[in-house]
Amino acid sequence: MLENLKIVFHQGRQFIPDPTTVEVPGIFRGRPVISTVKVDETKLVELCPTAAISGSPVSIDLGKCTFCGECAMQFPTKISFTKDYKMSSNERDRLIIKEGEDNPVEVNPDTVRKDIHRIFGKSLKLRQISAGGDNSCEMELNAANNVQFDISRYGIDFVASPRHADGIVITGPITKNMAEAIQICYDAVPEPKIIVLVGTDAISGGIFADSPAIDRSFLEKYIVDLYIPGNPAHPLSIVNGLLDLTRKH
Ligand code: SF4
Repeated sequence: MLENLKIVFHQGRQFIPDPTTVEVPGIFRGRPVISTVKVDETKLVELCPTAAISGSPVSIDLGKCTFCGECAMQFPTKISFTKDYKMSSNERDRLIIKEGEDNPVEVNPDTVRKDIHRIFGKSLKLRQISAGGDNSCEMELNAANNVQFDISRYGIDFVASPRHADGIVITGPITKNMAEAIQICYDAVPEPKIIVLVGTDAISGGIFADSPAIDRSFLEKYIVDLYIPGNPAHPLSIVNGLLDLTRKH
C-alpha cells in the first residue's frame, strides 16, 4: 500500500484539469495568421504542396493544410502559426483563414442540427473508421481517450460497434477499398447520427486528393457535422471540436 502511494505521489497529477483552456507546451502549429504584408503571392501559392494557399487576398484552407510550416518558414513576415488548437467547425467555409484576420475558428451553433444538442449534449458514442489513414489521426483520437486528455469525462466515448454508436468519425483520405465499408458502417448506426471528419486527409484528401486510389463519393451524399483540421489533429482540437458541436449554444 505504502509503495503504491509512493508511486502515485511520484507520478503527480497526470490529467489536464481543463482541456478547453490549457496552453500547449513546446512546438505546435495551430491556427495560422496571415498578415497584410505584401509578398510574392505567386511564389507563396506555388510552394504549398496541397494547394491550401490561395492568392488575392491570401488565404489558407485548414481543410487542405498539412501544417508542414513551409509557408511560414519561407514567408515569416506573411504567415505565422499560433498555438490555437481550437480549429474545428461545422461549416467547411469557416476553415478558410483570410489575410488580415485573427479570429478563432468556431462551430456555428445556429447551423448545428438541433438534434445534436438535444440528444448528444450529455452523451455521445462514436465509431471510428480509418479509411486509408496512416494511423496518425487514429493515434491522436486514441490519445484523446487517454488519462491526460480524458474525453470520456464529458460523456464522449468510442465504441466497438456502429450499432452502439451515435455517429462515425472518419480518418484518412477514403480509399476505394474503404468506400463501401464506410457506407455499411454508417447504415448500421441508428438515427439520428452524425459524421465527423478528423484530419486533413479526411477533410480534403490531403496529399492524396488527386489520387485515383481514393473514392470520396460517400461525403457527397451526406451533411458533415464537424470538421476537425490537423495533420494529424491534436487531441485538444478533437476534444474541443466535439464539445463545441454538442454543447455550444
Ligand atoms: S503549412 Fe499548410 S499552407 Fe503552409 S505550405 Fe504547408 S500545407 Fe501549405
